[in-house]
Order: sequence, then structure tokens, then C-alpha cells
Amino acid sequence: MKLNEMKLTNPYLNLPEECHTRVKPTPLKRTYLIHANEDVAKMLDIDSDELKTDAFVEFINGALALEGSDPFAMCYAGHQFGHFVPRLGDGRAINIGTVKNLHLQLKGAGQTHYSRSGDGRAVLRSSIREYLMSEAMYGLGIETTRALALIGSEQQVIREDWEKGAIALRVSPSWIRFGTFEYFAHKKKYKELEALADYAIAESYPHLADESNKYLHFFTEVVGKTARLMAEWQAVGFNHGVMNTDNMSIAGLTIDYGPYAFLDDYDFQYICNHTDQHGRYSFGNQPGIGEWNLRALMQALSPLVNIEKMEKVLGHYGRLYTERYLYLMGQKLGLDKLQDGDLEFFKHLLGMLQGLTVDYTLFFRTLSHYDGERRALLKLGLYHQPMNDWLDSYDKRLEENSSGTRERQEKMLKTNPKYVLKNYILQEAIDAADKGDFTMVDGLFQIAQDPYAEHEAFERWAGATPDAFKNKKLSCSS
Ligand code: AMP
Ligand code: MG
Repeated sequence: MKLNEMKLTNPYLNLPEECHTRVKPTPLKRTYLIHANEDVAKMLDIDSDELKTDAFVEFINGALALEGSDPFAMCYAGHQFGHFVPRLGDGRAINIGTVKNLHLQLKGAGQTHYSRSGDGRAVLRSSIREYLMSEAMYGLGIETTRALALIGSEQQVIREDWEKGAIALRVSPSWIRFGTFEYFAHKKKYKELEALADYAIAESYPHLADESNKYLHFFTEVVGKTARLMAEWQAVGFNHGVMNTDNMSIAGLTIDYGPYAFLDDYDFQYICNHTDQHGRYSFGNQPGIGEWNLRALMQALSPLVNIEKMEKVLGHYGRLYTERYLYLMGQKLGLDKLQDGDLEFFKHLLGMLQGLTVDYTLFFRTLSHYDGERRALLKLGLYHQPMNDWLDSYDKRLEENSSGTRERQEKMLKTNPKYVLKNYILQEAIDAADKGDFTMVDGLFQIAQDPYAEHEAFERWAGATPDAFKNKKLSCSS
């Protein structure tokens, strides 16, 4: 379809007035296309030729409104670092309409009713990070929002320094956050709360619409989805960095990519966010914070659902998380079936990786080639003995497998990515992009979509992170 044939709807605007505020985007000046995502274009039924046009850049810039578009910002609250903030909202995201059940949102297209003292902009650096990482998570098979395109601009935006502004058009089946419910619960606006719950059910859990007790079932689904997402993050070694309840998706998606990181050397205590002094959102804390956030959601839903019943549901979170995590770790290690004692076996592995300061991604990729020859694995750690001890138990554990070595290796190579977009790699792409060279953004995008393939041209990004860049913290500014 051509852009000018597209028709957008705005289902969120049917919710009560309190939920949103209409706002027009403020386009950036001197814009240019950095990247367009053909895969997402296909999902939206946009012709690939359209992606090369000036009109497309204007569309991403918020300067070209498609038929039916009625732009608005969403209102929400949230617990930020454990403290309740009664009103946040889309301060720099503008929703421009829905097509094929995907909601389009411009991030960085100017101020809204909820911008507070912010400028409503997003800088090139953080926009490249979000654009590439949402695609990388998709490539890894982890639930996430995605993006249709990224444009840059010569217009400067002030952060610690002057930086270039950019806009990404993000798409998601849902933009509702735990904090969206907290907003109405806090204001004691229970009619709006109920309308929002019905909307979220229709949007993300339509099979529940006619259930009696649908709100309890809804909470049950969100608990399950969140437990699952946390297990996926832990297994792949992803640290989100800002797990405030306003950054938690009611649909169980990874949203709002900020100072995130993939682990370099395995470190359970790793904190990617520079402003997170006490490590509330450290890598190891994520599953527990997922539960803390669900508790905040539970409180918000309590005017609609019996809280004791929700408590019971939440009581299953730990089990759901652990089951999924064990399953994923079993897959990473190429085990046919889980057994009693596997949790201890996995803990032994993680302790060994932490003690030897081994690159998490590289370890599993190297193990995926393991056929009894240990040299490549022993080279990864500082000492040999702990790795040898663990490999002895792995050899024993593999004897319980019914599949042979070849079959196991093939499966593991499809489970353990060769490439994850570590921060030092992204930084190199950002530095080049800042000088107008987007070839690395293009390259990383290819890797992001297929992280299990070999991509010989990009081999240098498959190794352990260079010492100078390992396990660093990132600034939250974006
Ligand atoms: P985040 O940490 O990016 O999830 O943002 C937290 C809150 O601050 C959200 O309500 C954002 O919309 C808002 N915000 C962040 N950056 C800006 C900005 N540059 N201008 C306006 N609002 C912003
Ligand atoms: Mg956010």
C-alpha cells in the first residue's frame, strides 16, 4: 500500500478523556532517513518503495499526517526507583494511530501535555540504541516493541552536551503500562480504571473478554507474561536498567530501551544504569523487581478484583519464573529433558562463569560447538580447574541425553546467539552515525535480525568484550 492510501484508526481515544491528551507533533528540521525496517513495513502493509520517498521521512517526522490520524499522548503514573510519581505520561512519545492492530508512536516528536520540564526530544544516540535493540530482541525471540524507521536531523538538542535530535517510529500491539493502571487507581477514578482494564483485555487478552472474573484472569495473564519475560532476559543476559512500573508493559513486552546492556563477563550483580546507585535494577534483581512491579499493579487493580485472590495468583510468580528459566537454561545447554538437580547444576555453572570472569554470550556459543575437546572453553577463563570441574559434570549430564553430539550442537547453535549488541559495539555505530556514516547501523541491523547466523563480515563483534569496555555503566540521559 502507498502511504497516502493508508487509513489509521485511534481506538485508544474511545477511552475516557483522562486517559490521553491530543497533541500535534513538532517536526524536526533538516531531517534524513537513517534506516527503515522492511519487515515492520510489511506487517503494516506499506510498499517497500514507499520507504525511499521524501514523504516517508516527512511521515516519520510527524509532518505528514495519514488519513484518520488524530495524534495524542497517553497519561500514566509509575513507581520510579520505588517511589510513586502520580503523573508521568508520554512526555516525548506521540501516538499517531493504529493499523493492523499495531499502534504507531513517534518518539522524540516534541512536547506533550506530559513533558513536564522535558523538551519532548530524543537524541540520535539513544534513538539508535532503541531502534537496533528492539529489533535485536525480536531476532532473539523475546517479546518486544519494534520500530518502523529512524530519522536523524541536523537540529541540536541539549543534554550534557549538544547532540543531534532524532525520531523513531515505534510500533507495538500495546503501549499500556502497569503505571497506566496506577494513575487511575491513585486518583480513585474507578470507572476509568475499569474501562482501561476492558480496553487492555480487548487489546492483549481478547480470549478473556467474556470470562466471568475476567479482571482476575487478566492479572493472572500479566503475572505469567511478566514471569516469562524476566526468565528470557535472565537467560540471554539482558539488563534493562530502568524497570520502573511505567516501563513495564501490560502485554509482557520489553519496552522503553534506555541505559540497557547485555552482560559482557557474567556478573550477577551487574548494574548497567549509572544513576542506579544501589543496584535496584541490577541484572540479578530483575526477576524480583518484576514481582515487586506486579504487586504495584495488583494494588492498582484492587478496586476491581479481590486482592486475596490476586495475592494467590502472585504467589505462583516465583514458580512460573523458575520453570521458564530452567527450561531456557536447559535449552542453552542442549539438554533434552530437565532433571532434579539441574537448578544446582546451572548455579554451579553461573558461579564458575562469574569466578572466572567469562564472557556470557561467548561461553554459550563456544559450548555449542563442544564435542569433548575442551581447549576453546578453557581459554575463556582465567584458570582451568573450575571450568574442567564443571565440564566433568556436563559430560556426565550429557550422558542422560538421548540425542547425539551433532544434533545437540545444531540445536544449541540456534539457541545461543553468536552476536548480541553489546554497548561498546553500539557506541561504535553511534560515533560513526554522529559523523553521518550509517553503514554500521545497517550492519548491526542485519545482525540483530539473525543473531544465530555466522555473518563472517562482522566476526570481530562476536568475541569477548575488550577489557576497556567491559561491564560499564551507562548514563540515563536520552
Ligand atoms: P523514561 O525513563 O525514558 O521511561 O522516561 C520517564 C518519563 O520521563 C516519561 O514520562 C517520559 O515521557 C519522560 N521523559 C523522558 N525524557 C523526556 C524528554 N526529553 N522530554 C519530555 N519528557 C521526557
Ligand atoms: Mg519510559
